[in-house]
Amino acid sequence: MELNLEKLKLTKKNKKLIISGPCSAESEEQVLNTALQLAETGQVDVLRAGIWKPRTRPNSFEGIGTIGLNWMQKAKAVTGLPIAVEIANAKHAEEALKYGVDLLWIGARTTVNPFAVQEIADALRGTEANVLVKNPINPDLELWIGGIERIYKAGIRNLGAIHRGFSKFGNSIYRNIPLWQIAQELKERIPDLPIIGDPSHMAGNRELIKPISKKSLELDYDGLMIESHINPDNAWSDAKQQITPKTLSQLLTSLDINRNEEKIQEDELTDLRQQINHIDEELIELISNRMKVAASIGHYKKQNNLNVVQNDRWHEVLDRVIKRGEKGGLRKDFVEKYLTIIHEESINHQVQV
Ligand code: PEP
Ligand code: MN
Repeated sequence: MELNLEKLKLTKKNKKLIISGPCSAESEEQVLNTALQLAETGQVDVLRAGIWKPRTRPNSFEGIGTIGLNWMQKAKAVTGLPIAVEIANAKHAEEALKYGVDLLWIGARTTVNPFAVQEIADALRGTEANVLVKNPINPDLELWIGGIERIYKAGIRNLGAIHRGFSKFGNSIYRNIPLWQIAQELKERIPDLPIIGDPSHMAGNRELIKPISKKSLELDYDGLMIESHINPDNAWSDAKQQITPKTLSQLLTSLDINRNEEKIQEDELTDLRQQINHIDEELIELISNRMKVAASIGHYKKQNNLNVVQNDRWHEVLDRVIKRGEKGGLRKDFVEKYLTIIHEESINHQVQV
């Protein structure tokens, strides 16, 4: 597709655009303190915060609302940093522009809805807004491009995309799987479109932010959006994936954002080890969940006077897991050894009840 794009006004030549700030604006103090600490790093170009939060479940924090725009405006005045917020409808777009928001982004839950995107496009018509369109939650490149086109057709030329990964069914080490090839295809289809990586929402945890950031840089993304909070563990949304401004600064330094490729690959081993640590944590959690279920089975068997060890069932489990393991490249005797140990421990948990 031929889009006649100007570069996002905020991007600088040969420099990655770093957008950071809390997932959500929570209080004036939190916004200002985060902004000050981020500005102090000298490594952040734009301050972000969610004001309206479309959440998957209604019992989650849905955003502080317009009052947060006052805090963002103050943060901009105090730090000199341009500010960015998420918009999900025409009213948000108008409010944000009224409060001098420099960069608007359309969230993944909004990009999926062409009516919502069109409404935003109509509200932005005739303005000089900078707009980033996040990928839709489902892996549909056409829907992503459709969203970008709608904004473009409203006359917006300072346009870019944010790659935040796609939702998945079942287990994955990611909160949203990257599916890098989809973003690569977007680059091929609209070569002039800047792409910003959003490692925070892909990872869903702190450990994976760095390897994902690195991968984004290897693919020559134009910038990164990383969530940062002064007190991440107590964040009102996305607590597990937020990092302090200090950690962010260390991360950006270690990534050597604007340096050459060589350096980017240097601590590959450290990153791979971080991934292993994360997987180990998940494994242990899964095994401990398995033992809890085993204990419940133990209760059931006791109540119903059944034997703890039932050979048919054990062979059925073993066969199934061996077949599944083979698909994933695991040797039969390894899976057998592994499952035997798990099974023994499982019996211990069943007998203990
Ligand atoms: C966010 O940026 O905080 C957010 C809600 O992201 P997404 O739309 O990617 O889920
Ligand atoms: Mn978030």
